[in-house]
Amino acid sequence: MKRSNSEKLYEKALNYFPGGVNSPVRAFKAVEGAPLFIKKGKGPYIWDEDENQFIDFCCSFGPHILGHNYPDVHQNIVDNLANGTSFGAPTRLENDLAEIIISRNPYIDKIRFVSSGTEAVMSGIRLARGYTGRNKILKFEGCYHGHVDSLLVNAGSGLVTTGLSSSAGVPENVVADTIVIPLNDVEALETAFATYAHELACVIIEPIPANNGLLLQERSFLLKLREICTAHNVLLFFDEVISGFRVAFSGAAEYYDIAPDIVSYGKIIGGGLPVGAYGAKNHIMKSVSPDGPVYQAGTLSGNPVAMSAGIAQLTVCSRPGFYEDQEQRTQTMVNSINSHAKEKGYNFALVTIGSIFWIAFSDKTTIRSASQIDTDMTPFKKLHKALLERNVYVGPSGYEVGFISYVHTKEILENAAQQFKNALDEVFG
Ligand SMILES: *Cc1c(COP(=O)(O)O)cnc(C)c1O
Repeated sequence: MKRSNSEKLYEKALNYFPGGVNSPVRAFKAVEGAPLFIKKGKGPYIWDEDENQFIDFCCSFGPHILGHNYPDVHQNIVDNLANGTSFGAPTRLENDLAEIIISRNPYIDKIRFVSSGTEAVMSGIRLARGYTGRNKILKFEGCYHGHVDSLLVNAGSGLVTTGLSSSAGVPENVVADTIVIPLNDVEALETAFATYAHELACVIIEPIPANNGLLLQERSFLLKLREICTAHNVLLFFDEVISGFRVAFSGAAEYYDIAPDIVSYGKIIGGGLPVGAYGAKNHIMKSVSPDGPVYQAGTLSGNPVAMSAGIAQLTVCSRPGFYEDQEQRTQTMVNSINSHAKEKGYNFALVTIGSIFWIAFSDKTTIRSASQIDTDMTPFKKLHKALLERNVYVGPSGYEVGFISYVHTKEILENAAQQFKNALDEVFG
Protein backbone atom coordinates (compact mmCIF):
# COMPACT_ATOMS: atom_id res chain seq x y z
CA MET A 1 0.00 0.00 0.00
CA LYS A 2 1.32 3.41 -0.99
CA ARG A 3 1.70 5.66 2.04
CA SER A 4 4.30 8.17 0.80
CA ASN A 5 2.01 11.23 0.75
CA SER A 6 0.89 10.59 4.32
CA GLU A 7 4.54 10.08 5.32
CA LYS A 8 5.54 13.43 3.79
CA LEU A 9 2.65 15.25 5.47
CA TYR A 10 3.54 13.63 8.79
CA GLU A 11 7.17 14.78 8.44
CA LYS A 12 5.89 18.31 7.93
CA ALA A 13 3.36 18.07 10.77
CA LEU A 14 6.16 17.09 13.15
CA ASN A 15 7.48 20.64 12.70
CA TYR A 16 4.20 22.16 13.79
CA PHE A 17 2.57 19.95 16.42
CA PRO A 18 3.79 17.87 19.35
CA GLY A 19 4.11 14.37 17.90
CA GLY A 20 2.77 15.77 14.62
CA VAL A 21 -0.84 15.66 15.81
CA ASN A 22 -3.52 17.65 17.58
CA SER A 23 -4.74 14.77 19.72
CA PRO A 24 -2.36 12.03 20.90
CA VAL A 25 -4.12 8.81 19.82
CA ARG A 26 -3.95 9.95 16.18
CA ALA A 27 -0.16 9.56 16.26
CA PHE A 28 -0.02 5.79 15.48
CA LYS A 29 2.38 5.38 18.43
CA ALA A 30 0.85 2.00 19.26
CA VAL A 31 0.83 0.68 15.67
CA GLU A 32 3.11 0.63 12.66
CA GLY A 33 4.03 3.46 10.33
CA ALA A 34 3.13 7.11 10.00
CA PRO A 35 -0.47 8.15 10.67
CA LEU A 36 -2.64 8.17 7.57
CA PHE A 37 -3.63 11.69 6.59
CA ILE A 38 -7.25 11.62 5.57
CA LYS A 39 -8.37 13.63 2.59
CA LYS A 40 -12.09 12.98 2.53
CA GLY A 41 -14.94 10.87 3.81
CA LYS A 42 -18.20 9.80 2.20
CA GLY A 43 -20.66 7.41 3.81
CA PRO A 44 -18.83 4.45 5.41
CA TYR A 45 -15.61 5.22 3.53
CA ILE A 46 -12.57 7.43 4.00
CA TRP A 47 -9.76 8.14 1.54
CA ASP A 48 -6.22 9.02 2.53
CA GLU A 49 -3.81 11.38 0.77
CA ASP A 50 -2.42 8.45 -1.23
CA GLU A 51 -5.92 7.73 -2.60
CA ASN A 52 -6.31 4.52 -0.59
CA GLN A 53 -9.95 3.83 0.23
CA PHE A 54 -10.98 2.31 3.57
CA ILE A 55 -14.14 1.09 5.24
CA ASP A 56 -14.03 3.36 8.30
CA PHE A 57 -14.79 1.92 11.73
CA CYS A 58 -13.23 4.85 13.60
CA CYS A 59 -15.92 7.31 12.49
CA SER A 60 -13.94 10.17 14.06
CA PHE A 61 -13.96 8.15 17.33
CA GLY A 62 -17.73 8.11 17.45
CA PRO A 63 -19.44 11.29 16.21
CA HIS A 64 -20.33 10.01 12.71
CA ILE A 65 -23.23 7.70 13.49
CA LEU A 66 -24.64 8.50 10.02
CA GLY A 67 -21.30 8.02 8.29
CA HIS A 68 -19.31 10.79 6.66
CA ASN A 69 -20.98 13.72 4.98
CA TYR A 70 -24.53 12.42 5.41
CA PRO A 71 -26.66 14.43 2.95
CA ASP A 72 -29.11 15.92 5.51
CA VAL A 73 -26.28 16.96 7.82
CA HIS A 74 -24.23 18.42 4.99
CA GLN A 75 -27.20 20.35 3.64
CA ASN A 76 -28.28 21.76 7.00
CA ILE A 77 -24.73 22.98 7.67
CA VAL A 78 -24.52 24.66 4.28
CA ASP A 79 -27.97 26.24 4.59
CA ASN A 80 -27.25 27.78 7.99
CA LEU A 81 -23.67 28.72 7.15
CA ALA A 82 -25.07 31.26 4.72
CA ASN A 83 -26.44 33.21 7.72
CA GLY A 84 -23.12 33.53 9.54
CA THR A 85 -21.25 31.39 12.03
CA SER A 86 -21.58 32.94 15.49
CA PHE A 87 -23.17 35.98 17.10
CA GLY A 88 -22.60 35.89 20.84
CA ALA A 89 -26.38 36.04 21.09
CA PRO A 90 -29.01 33.30 21.22
CA THR A 91 -30.30 31.70 18.02
CA ARG A 92 -33.38 29.67 17.13
CA LEU A 93 -31.15 26.68 16.31
CA GLU A 94 -30.16 26.22 19.98
CA ASN A 95 -33.86 25.90 20.87
CA ASP A 96 -34.37 23.44 18.04
CA LEU A 97 -31.55 21.10 19.07
CA ALA A 98 -32.53 21.31 22.76
CA GLU A 99 -36.14 20.46 21.89
CA ILE A 100 -35.15 17.39 19.86
CA ILE A 101 -33.15 16.14 22.84
CA ILE A 102 -35.24 17.14 25.85
CA SER A 103 -38.60 16.11 24.38
CA ARG A 104 -37.32 12.51 24.15
CA ASN A 105 -35.17 12.40 27.28
CA PRO A 106 -36.86 11.75 30.64
CA TYR A 107 -33.66 12.33 32.63
CA ILE A 108 -33.07 16.03 32.01
CA ASP A 109 -35.27 19.13 32.12
CA LYS A 110 -32.59 21.57 31.02
CA ILE A 111 -29.38 21.38 29.04
CA ARG A 112 -26.37 23.65 28.50
CA PHE A 113 -24.41 23.40 25.24
CA VAL A 114 -20.62 23.65 25.32
CA SER A 115 -17.96 22.86 22.71
CA SER A 116 -16.44 19.49 23.70
CA GLY A 117 -16.98 16.44 25.84
CA THR A 118 -14.20 17.52 28.17
CA GLU A 119 -15.88 20.86 28.75
CA ALA A 120 -19.21 19.14 29.41
CA VAL A 121 -17.71 16.85 32.06
CA MET A 122 -15.67 19.65 33.66
CA SER A 123 -18.78 21.83 33.93
CA GLY A 124 -20.91 18.95 35.21
CA ILE A 125 -18.40 18.25 38.00
CA ARG A 126 -18.45 21.92 38.98
CA LEU A 127 -22.25 21.79 39.02
CA ALA A 128 -22.25 18.67 41.22
CA ARG A 129 -19.91 20.36 43.68
CA GLY A 130 -21.76 23.66 43.61
CA TYR A 131 -25.16 22.05 44.04
CA THR A 132 -24.17 19.71 46.89
CA GLY A 133 -21.62 21.95 48.60
CA ARG A 134 -19.29 18.92 48.80
CA ASN A 135 -15.85 18.56 47.20
CA LYS A 136 -15.01 14.90 46.75
CA ILE A 137 -15.82 12.95 43.62
CA LEU A 138 -15.62 9.23 43.00
CA LYS A 139 -14.51 7.76 39.68
CA PHE A 140 -13.68 4.32 38.32
CA GLU A 141 -10.35 2.97 37.15
CA GLY A 142 -10.63 2.47 33.37
CA CYS A 143 -13.17 5.23 32.71
CA TYR A 144 -12.09 8.24 30.65
CA HIS A 145 -13.83 11.57 31.08
CA GLY A 146 -11.82 13.84 28.82
CA HIS A 147 -8.73 15.74 29.91
CA VAL A 148 -10.36 17.32 32.96
CA ASP A 149 -7.58 17.97 35.54
CA SER A 150 -9.38 16.43 38.51
CA LEU A 151 -10.16 13.28 36.51
CA LEU A 152 -6.67 12.61 35.11
CA VAL A 153 -5.94 10.08 37.82
CA ASN A 154 -4.78 6.52 38.27
CA ALA A 155 -5.79 4.35 41.17
CA GLY A 156 -3.17 3.87 43.86
CA SER A 157 -2.55 0.40 45.27
CA GLY A 158 -5.55 -0.72 47.26
CA LEU A 159 -9.27 -1.21 46.76
CA VAL A 160 -10.28 2.39 47.45
CA THR A 161 -7.66 5.08 46.95
CA THR A 162 -7.38 8.78 46.41
CA GLY A 163 -6.16 9.26 42.86
CA LEU A 164 -2.59 9.72 41.74
CA SER A 165 -2.26 12.33 39.02
CA SER A 166 -1.78 10.55 35.68
CA SER A 167 -0.47 13.57 33.78
CA ALA A 168 2.39 15.96 34.34
CA GLY A 169 0.96 19.40 35.05
CA VAL A 170 -1.84 18.11 37.25
CA PRO A 171 -0.79 18.84 40.84
CA GLU A 172 -1.52 16.20 43.46
CA ASN A 173 -3.70 18.65 45.39
CA VAL A 174 -5.98 18.98 42.34
CA VAL A 175 -6.70 15.23 42.41
CA ALA A 176 -6.65 14.89 46.20
CA ASP A 177 -10.46 15.01 46.25
CA THR A 178 -10.82 12.32 43.58
CA ILE A 179 -11.46 8.81 44.93
CA VAL A 180 -10.77 5.93 42.54
CA ILE A 181 -12.19 2.41 42.71
CA PRO A 182 -12.34 -0.55 40.26
CA LEU A 183 -15.33 -1.02 37.94
CA ASN A 184 -18.07 -3.53 38.64
CA ASP A 185 -16.94 -4.07 42.23
CA VAL A 186 -19.73 -3.77 44.80
CA GLU A 187 -17.39 -4.34 47.74
CA ALA A 188 -15.12 -1.45 46.73
CA LEU A 189 -18.16 0.76 46.19
CA GLU A 190 -19.54 -0.01 49.64
CA THR A 191 -16.14 0.54 51.25
CA ALA A 192 -15.75 3.89 49.50
CA PHE A 193 -19.20 5.02 50.62
CA ALA A 194 -18.57 3.86 54.18
CA THR A 195 -15.57 6.19 54.34
CA TYR A 196 -16.47 9.11 52.11
CA ALA A 197 -20.24 9.26 51.52
CA HIS A 198 -20.86 12.46 53.49
CA GLU A 199 -18.08 14.26 51.56
CA LEU A 200 -19.02 13.07 48.06
CA ALA A 201 -20.57 15.49 45.55
CA CYS A 202 -20.97 12.83 42.88
CA VAL A 203 -20.01 9.48 41.49
CA ILE A 204 -19.01 9.78 37.84
CA ILE A 205 -19.03 6.77 35.53
CA GLU A 206 -19.13 5.94 31.85
CA PRO A 207 -22.18 3.66 32.19
CA ILE A 208 -20.77 1.91 29.12
CA PRO A 209 -17.01 2.27 29.62
CA ALA A 210 -15.68 2.46 26.06
CA ASN A 211 -12.42 4.39 26.19
CA ASN A 212 -10.23 1.68 27.66
CA GLY A 213 -11.53 -1.29 25.83
CA LEU A 214 -15.24 -1.98 26.20
CA LEU A 215 -15.74 -2.86 29.86
CA LEU A 216 -19.42 -3.73 29.98
CA GLN A 217 -20.89 -3.39 33.45
CA GLU A 218 -23.50 -5.66 34.94
CA ARG A 219 -26.84 -3.84 35.11
CA SER A 220 -27.08 -4.93 38.75
CA PHE A 221 -23.87 -2.98 39.46
CA LEU A 222 -25.25 0.19 37.85
CA LEU A 223 -28.47 -0.27 39.82
CA LYS A 224 -26.48 -0.68 43.04
CA LEU A 225 -24.71 2.56 42.18
CA ARG A 226 -28.05 4.32 41.73
CA GLU A 227 -29.33 3.00 45.07
CA ILE A 228 -26.26 3.85 47.12
CA CYS A 229 -26.08 7.37 45.64
CA THR A 230 -29.76 7.99 46.42
CA ALA A 231 -29.36 6.65 49.97
CA HIS A 232 -26.53 9.12 50.69
CA ASN A 233 -27.69 12.15 48.67
CA VAL A 234 -24.73 11.77 46.34
CA LEU A 235 -25.36 12.73 42.71
CA LEU A 236 -24.97 10.04 40.07
CA PHE A 237 -23.19 11.50 37.03
CA PHE A 238 -23.41 9.48 33.81
CA ASP A 239 -20.72 10.56 31.37
CA GLU A 240 -22.51 9.66 28.15
CA VAL A 241 -20.17 11.46 25.78
CA ILE A 242 -19.58 8.18 23.93
CA SER A 243 -22.75 6.22 24.78
CA GLY A 244 -25.26 9.06 24.40
CA PHE A 245 -27.20 8.81 21.10
CA ARG A 246 -25.11 5.67 20.38
CA VAL A 247 -26.77 2.72 22.15
CA ALA A 248 -30.17 4.42 22.40
CA PHE A 249 -31.32 7.99 21.79
CA SER A 250 -31.05 8.82 25.50
CA GLY A 251 -27.92 6.72 25.84
CA ALA A 252 -27.01 4.09 28.40
CA ALA A 253 -29.54 5.59 30.85
CA GLU A 254 -32.31 4.54 28.44
CA TYR A 255 -30.58 1.28 27.45
CA TYR A 256 -30.36 0.11 31.08
CA ASP A 257 -33.37 2.11 32.30
CA ILE A 258 -31.43 3.76 35.11
CA ALA A 259 -31.83 7.48 35.80
CA PRO A 260 -28.71 9.57 36.44
CA ASP A 261 -28.81 12.97 38.19
CA ILE A 262 -26.39 14.72 35.83
CA VAL A 263 -25.50 13.64 32.27
CA SER A 264 -22.83 14.79 29.85
CA TYR A 265 -23.03 14.37 26.09
CA GLY A 266 -20.61 15.00 23.22
CA LYS A 267 -19.44 13.26 20.05
CA ILE A 268 -22.70 12.32 18.20
CA ILE A 269 -24.61 15.33 19.55
CA GLY A 270 -22.78 17.75 17.24
CA GLY A 271 -23.13 15.85 13.96
CA GLY A 272 -19.34 15.91 13.49
CA LEU A 273 -18.85 19.50 14.67
CA PRO A 274 -17.57 20.49 18.13
CA VAL A 275 -20.50 20.27 20.56
CA GLY A 276 -20.77 18.95 24.10
CA ALA A 277 -23.59 19.35 26.60
CA TYR A 278 -24.56 18.67 30.17
CA GLY A 279 -28.02 18.41 31.60
CA ALA A 280 -30.02 17.57 34.71
CA LYS A 281 -33.41 18.10 36.29
CA ASN A 282 -34.54 21.67 37.03
CA HIS A 283 -33.69 21.64 40.73
CA ILE A 284 -30.05 20.95 39.86
CA MET A 285 -29.75 23.02 36.67
CA LYS A 286 -31.07 26.10 38.45
CA SER A 287 -27.66 26.29 40.16
CA VAL A 288 -26.05 27.16 36.79
CA SER A 289 -25.36 30.82 35.98
CA PRO A 290 -27.08 33.14 35.27
CA ASP A 291 -29.86 31.44 37.33
CA GLY A 292 -27.51 30.27 40.07
CA PRO A 293 -24.03 30.52 41.55
CA VAL A 294 -22.17 27.91 39.44
CA TYR A 295 -20.35 29.87 36.76
CA GLN A 296 -19.96 28.43 33.27
CA ALA A 297 -19.76 30.17 29.89
CA GLY A 298 -18.55 29.83 26.28
CA THR A 299 -17.90 32.28 23.44
CA LEU A 300 -18.77 29.73 20.75
CA SER A 301 -21.22 27.64 22.80
CA GLY A 302 -24.33 26.69 20.86
CA ASN A 303 -22.92 28.17 17.68
CA PRO A 304 -25.39 27.91 14.82
CA VAL A 305 -23.29 25.86 12.39
CA ALA A 306 -22.60 23.16 14.97
CA MET A 307 -26.25 23.25 16.11
CA SER A 308 -27.45 22.74 12.54
CA ALA A 309 -25.27 19.63 12.16
CA GLY A 310 -26.58 18.25 15.46
CA ILE A 311 -30.19 18.96 14.53
CA ALA A 312 -29.95 17.10 11.22
CA GLN A 313 -28.09 14.15 12.74
CA LEU A 314 -30.30 13.69 15.80
CA THR A 315 -33.44 14.00 13.66
CA VAL A 316 -32.37 10.86 11.79
CA CYS A 317 -31.32 9.11 15.03
CA SER A 318 -34.74 9.76 16.58
CA ARG A 319 -36.60 7.76 13.89
CA PRO A 320 -38.36 4.63 15.19
CA GLY A 321 -36.23 1.51 14.90
CA PHE A 322 -32.98 3.38 14.29
CA TYR A 323 -31.10 1.81 17.20
CA GLU A 324 -32.53 -1.70 16.78
CA ASP A 325 -31.35 -1.66 13.18
CA GLN A 326 -27.88 -0.42 14.18
CA GLU A 327 -27.54 -3.14 16.78
CA GLN A 328 -28.74 -5.88 14.43
CA ARG A 329 -26.28 -5.06 11.66
CA THR A 330 -23.47 -4.86 14.20
CA GLN A 331 -24.42 -8.21 15.77
CA THR A 332 -24.42 -9.93 12.38
CA MET A 333 -20.89 -8.73 11.62
CA VAL A 334 -19.57 -9.47 15.11
CA ASN A 335 -21.11 -12.97 15.20
CA SER A 336 -19.65 -13.81 11.82
CA ILE A 337 -16.12 -12.76 12.87
CA ASN A 338 -16.38 -14.35 16.32
CA SER A 339 -17.60 -17.72 14.93
CA HIS A 340 -14.62 -17.79 12.60
CA ALA A 341 -12.20 -17.03 15.46
CA LYS A 342 -13.81 -19.69 17.63
CA GLU A 343 -13.75 -22.35 14.88
CA LYS A 344 -10.07 -21.70 14.30
CA GLY A 345 -9.32 -21.61 18.03
CA TYR A 346 -7.89 -18.08 17.97
CA ASN A 347 -7.45 -16.24 21.28
CA PHE A 348 -9.69 -13.47 20.01
CA ALA A 349 -13.19 -12.06 20.27
CA LEU A 350 -15.02 -8.87 19.44
CA VAL A 351 -16.89 -7.51 22.45
CA THR A 352 -20.00 -5.56 21.49
CA ILE A 353 -22.97 -3.48 22.62
CA GLY A 354 -25.28 -1.46 20.38
CA SER A 355 -23.20 -0.36 17.39
CA ILE A 356 -19.91 -0.38 19.31
CA PHE A 357 -17.35 -3.18 19.08
CA TRP A 358 -13.98 -3.75 20.70
CA ILE A 359 -11.16 -5.90 19.38
CA ALA A 360 -10.16 -8.02 22.39
CA PHE A 361 -7.37 -10.52 22.13
CA SER A 362 -8.82 -12.67 24.85
CA ASP A 363 -10.83 -15.83 25.29
CA LYS A 364 -12.75 -14.21 28.13
CA THR A 365 -16.19 -13.33 26.81
CA THR A 366 -16.74 -10.59 29.37
CA ILE A 367 -14.14 -8.14 30.60
CA ARG A 368 -15.59 -5.81 33.19
CA SER A 369 -12.65 -4.02 34.73
CA ALA A 370 -9.42 -2.42 33.61
CA SER A 371 -7.19 -4.87 35.47
CA GLN A 372 -8.55 -7.77 33.38
CA ILE A 373 -7.25 -6.35 30.08
CA ASP A 374 -4.27 -8.14 28.56
CA THR A 375 -1.76 -5.31 28.13
CA ASP A 376 0.30 -7.09 25.46
CA MET A 377 -0.73 -5.14 22.37
CA THR A 378 1.56 -6.96 19.91
CA PRO A 379 -1.29 -8.93 18.32
CA PHE A 380 -3.35 -5.75 17.96
CA LYS A 381 -0.45 -4.06 16.20
CA LYS A 382 -0.27 -6.94 13.70
CA LEU A 383 -4.02 -6.95 13.16
CA HIS A 384 -4.13 -3.19 12.63
CA LYS A 385 -1.57 -3.50 9.83
CA ALA A 386 -3.30 -6.52 8.30
CA LEU A 387 -6.62 -4.64 8.32
CA LEU A 388 -5.17 -1.49 6.74
CA GLU A 389 -3.70 -3.64 3.97
CA ARG A 390 -7.21 -4.96 3.40
CA ASN A 391 -8.69 -1.46 3.31
CA VAL A 392 -10.31 -1.57 6.73
CA TYR A 393 -9.57 1.36 9.06
CA VAL A 394 -9.88 1.00 12.84
CA GLY A 395 -8.55 3.40 15.47
CA PRO A 396 -4.76 3.04 15.97
CA SER A 397 -4.89 1.64 19.52
CA GLY A 398 -6.05 -1.62 21.02
CA TYR A 399 -7.80 0.32 23.77
CA GLU A 400 -10.09 2.16 21.33
CA VAL A 401 -13.45 0.79 20.26
CA GLY A 402 -14.91 0.68 16.73
CA PHE A 403 -18.19 2.17 15.57
CA ILE A 404 -20.75 1.18 12.95
CA SER A 405 -22.82 3.82 11.23
CA TYR A 406 -26.25 3.95 9.63
CA VAL A 407 -24.64 3.70 6.18
CA HIS A 408 -22.49 0.67 6.96
CA THR A 409 -24.95 -1.54 5.10
CA LYS A 410 -25.29 -5.32 5.49
CA GLU A 411 -23.31 -5.82 2.28
CA ILE A 412 -20.47 -3.54 3.37
CA LEU A 413 -20.33 -5.25 6.76
CA GLU A 414 -20.24 -8.70 5.12
CA ASN A 415 -17.25 -7.56 3.11
CA ALA A 416 -15.63 -6.09 6.23
CA ALA A 417 -16.22 -9.35 8.13
CA GLN A 418 -14.46 -11.28 5.38
CA GLN A 419 -11.49 -8.89 5.54
CA PHE A 420 -11.37 -9.27 9.33
CA LYS A 421 -11.31 -13.06 8.98
CA ASN A 422 -8.52 -12.93 6.41
CA ALA A 423 -6.56 -10.51 8.59
CA LEU A 424 -7.01 -12.79 11.63
CA ASP A 425 -5.81 -15.80 9.60
CA GLU A 426 -2.69 -13.82 8.75
CA VAL A 427 -2.07 -12.71 12.36
CA PHE A 428 -2.64 -16.15 13.89
CA GLY A 429 -1.39 -18.16 10.88
C1 LIG B 1 -14.59 11.42 24.17
C2 LIG B 1 -14.99 11.42 25.59
C3 LIG B 1 -14.77 12.55 26.42
C4 LIG B 1 -14.03 13.76 25.94
O1 LIG B 1 -14.67 14.41 24.88
P1 LIG B 1 -13.82 15.42 23.96
O2 LIG B 1 -14.83 15.96 23.02
O3 LIG B 1 -12.76 14.59 23.32
O4 LIG B 1 -13.27 16.45 24.87
C5 LIG B 1 -15.26 12.51 27.71
N1 LIG B 1 -15.92 11.44 28.17
C6 LIG B 1 -16.14 10.34 27.42
C7 LIG B 1 -16.90 9.19 27.99
C8 LIG B 1 -15.67 10.30 26.11
O5 LIG B 1 -15.88 9.21 25.37
